[in-house]
Parts: sequence; structure tokens; C-alpha cells
Amino acid sequence: MLLVALAAVDILISRIAEVNYRETLIRDLSAKGDMLALCPPGQATELARAADLRLTIVDAAGQVRVDSEADPFHMESHRDRPEILEALSGRHGASIRPSPTLGIDFLYVAVPYGKGALRLAVPLSDVSRQVNSLRLQTFQAALIAFVPAIVVAGFFARRVSRRLARIIEFSTKLAKGDLTAKLPSSGGDELGILATTLNETARNLERTFGQLQSERKEMEKLDRVRKDFVINVSHELRTPLASIQGYTETLLDGALHDVDNNVRFLSIIRQNAERLGRLLEDLITISRLELRTQHFQFAAYCVNDLLSECVDTMMPMAEKKQITLSQELAGEEVEVFCDAEAVHQILMNLLDNAVKYTPEGGSVVVGASPIAKDRLEFHVRDTGTGIPPEDLPHVFERFYRVDKARSRELGGTGLGLAIVKHLVRAQGGEVRVESRLGHGSLFSFTLPIHDLGLSEHVKIQEEPTVS
Ligand code: ADP
Repeated sequence: MLLVALAAVDILISRIAEVNYRETLIRDLSAKGDMLALCPPGQATELARAADLRLTIVDAAGQVRVDSEADPFHMESHRDRPEILEALSGRHGASIRPSPTLGIDFLYVAVPYGKGALRLAVPLSDVSRQVNSLRLQTFQAALIAFVPAIVVAGFFARRVSRRLARIIEFSTKLAKGDLTAKLPSSGGDELGILATTLNETARNLERTFGQLQSERKEMEKLDRVRKDFVINVSHELRTPLASIQGYTETLLDGALHDVDNNVRFLSIIRQNAERLGRLLEDLITISRLELRTQHFQFAAYCVNDLLSECVDTMMPMAEKKQITLSQELAGEEVEVFCDAEAVHQILMNLLDNAVKYTPEGGSVVVGASPIAKDRLEFHVRDTGTGIPPEDLPHVFERFYRVDKARSRELGGTGLGLAIVKHLVRAQGGEVRVESRLGHGSLFSFTLPIHDLGLSEHVKIQEEPTVS
């Protein structure tokens, strides 16, 4: 573009300058001609030579009388020359044409001289020289102005194109799904703002995509949990139901009158009905906890009272199995901030397990002691079967049992410890277990001593169930 502009300027300047120079030269020669016309021919010729001009004087007939550079005797009549014709008519005349002797363009200017005419001539090469010199100067000036302009424009163009290339590369990565791509920040101009906006868009996309992915995973996990739960519940219900159905049919088919077996069959039916009842109760508790419809009534309670209530309730079952059930007294004034019903259920589930999984002659100890200024730890220790180390991390999952058959035989639902975990967490505590296979287990859980400002409906984290 700059070169085209330069060429246009060159053509225009050449034309204007040439016209201007010619007009100036014509005016100049006319003035000089007028001056020389005042002198006699000899002096005029001398002056013209001194000024480097060719002078020709013609008479009224157009015949050359004087010429500063040629012999007039050998020169033809100039009557038909346009400038001479004008001068003979009393006006100034000018004409440009090649000289018959030199072959180059000459400017002829003629003025009236007496009855004839006086003509001055100069080669036009002077004009061309001046025009060329002006063109050269213009070109140099343009060069001085344009070169830095071209360098600066080139620098900025390259910079812009490099930044655009980076933006294109970045968008291509985004289009291919690489949301981690990042554009280097590049100033506060339009491209810089575009880069920042694109970066923000990518980060938003990445965040949204991540959220969607984790939500999807969460949904899949919940779906799995739901399916597992339904399968587990159906499975747990099927066994006692099948048993009730089978023994009822046997009784109806005649065993009702079989005095040796009818009472046994009926007690099996009762046992299974009780198991169904326990299962339903535990399912309702778990659902309430997970749906956050379980209502807690937090208050400060005396720890020893809470413990002895549970020991009293559990004592007959322990005595039946000849298990020593004892309570380790906490300090008299020790209190805990909790829901008494929930703590009772937690302790009963733990004590029930301890008695269930401890063989005859064993012992179970329950107690509580402060472990920090604001925390209390309850524990239930037994000398029972213990739990294998690989099962320990799973015992708090729903329906997880170390020995399925034994758990069922002992009337377990597989939900006791899951309920314990939820109830403890809902009250701001943590539950843990330590166990040595063949030596016994220690279940403990913490609770706050003071009000933590817990909501009465506490959100419970869903966890996968194990069949
Ligand atoms: P269950 O109704 O089967 O007792 P829980 O959720 O209460 O279900 O316990 C899960 C499993 O943890 C039990 O099946 C049992 O294998 C193991 N377990 C719980 N408590 C004890 C304990 N005190 N001693 C040994 N094993 C235990």
C-alpha cells in the first residue's frame, strides 16, 4: 500500500512540477525577452550568450537576421514557427518542440522586436533535471517517513498475528476437549481482553464439566447404593418370609396335630416374624436418618445414668449367656450433650453385638470417660470372637457381616453398626473399632460435652452397601 501511494505521489508530483517549471520558465524567458528587446541586436546577443540562452532575431518577413549560435545566412525562414507568428502579431508566443539541429526538446519564447521578433530558446532537459531532482528529494523524504512506518507496522502486524495464532491454537485445543489449556495473558488491549475472556470461558467450562462429572459419578454411586440396598433388603426379607411360609404350610398340611413338632414349628415362625419386625424397625431407622426426618432432642444428660439404663436392659441377656456385664463408672458429675434416645440405641446395639459375639463365660464392659475438655468417649469392650483385620474397615457399612450365617442365626439384621455410625455422626461424634481375632473387640464413640449448635436434622452421608 505504501509503495502504491509512493508511486501515485511520484506521478502526481512529476506532472505538477513539470507544468510549474515550464510555466515559470516561459514567464522567465518572456521577461528576459522583453528586457533584451530593449537592447540593440549586438548587445542583446551578448547578454543572451552570457545568460546561456540561444537568441534569434527575425525580421517582419520571418527571415533570421541574428542568431547567437548559428549563421543566419544558412537558416531557413522562421515565419511558420508558432511562437514567431504570435510575436509578429504583437503578442508573446511560446512553443515546445524538438530542435531540428540538436534533436532534443527546446522551449521557444518569442516577443515582438521592432517590426520583427526576438526569440529565446532553452533546452527542456533543465526542466527534466529539476523535476528529477524534486522526485529524488520527495522519494528520500518518503523513504525517511515510510521506512520507520513499515518497520513499526511490520512489528505490530507480526505481534498481532503471533497473538492471534496463539488464540487459534488455544481455541483448537478447546474444540478438541482439552479444557486445561491456558492462554498466556497479553496486555489490556482488545486481543488481551479476548484472551482473558477466552481463559475465563475455558475455566468456567472446566469447572462446569468437572461439576457435571462429579455429579454424574455421585448419581451413579447413589444409583448403585439404591440398587444394592433394594437387593439387600429383598434378600433379607426373603429368608424369614420363606421360612414363615414353609412352616405355616407344613402346619396346615397336618403338622398342626403333630404334638412332637407343632410347638417347635410355631416358635420358628415366631422367631422369623420377630426377625422381620427387627429388620423393618432398623430399615425405618436408617431411612429416617438418611432422609433427615429423624428428630433429635439435644440436652445435657448424666453419663452414668445413660450407661446404667443400658446395662440394666442388657443384663438378662448377658446372664442367660453367663457373660459378666459390668459398667465402668464415669465421674459423678460427668454429663454429655446428646439425644438420650439415640445414645441409648447406640449403646444397646453395641452391647447387643458384644453379648451376641462373646462366647459363654466371657465378659463385656461398658463405660465412658472425658478425652478432652469438650469431648467424651464411650466404649464397649468384649472378650468375644473379634473381627478379622480385613473386615474392620467395613463393619459400619449397611448389611456388612463378617459371618453372614452366624449373624442371621443370632438374629442380626446387618444394620446395627450402620445405625450406630449414623447416630453418632448426627450428634457430632466419631465412631471407631479395634479388634483382635479370638481376643475381643473394643467399640468406642465420642460425643460433645457441650452444645455444638447442631441442627436437629443432621445430614447423613450415603455410603455403598455390601451384600
Ligand atoms: P449384625 O446384625 O449382623 O450384628 P451389625 O451391623 O451390628 O450387624 O454388625 C456387623 C457385623 O460386625 C456383624 O455381623 C459381626 O460380624 C461384626 N461385629 C459387630 N460387633 C461385633 C463384636 N462385638 N464382636 C465381633 N464381631 C462383631
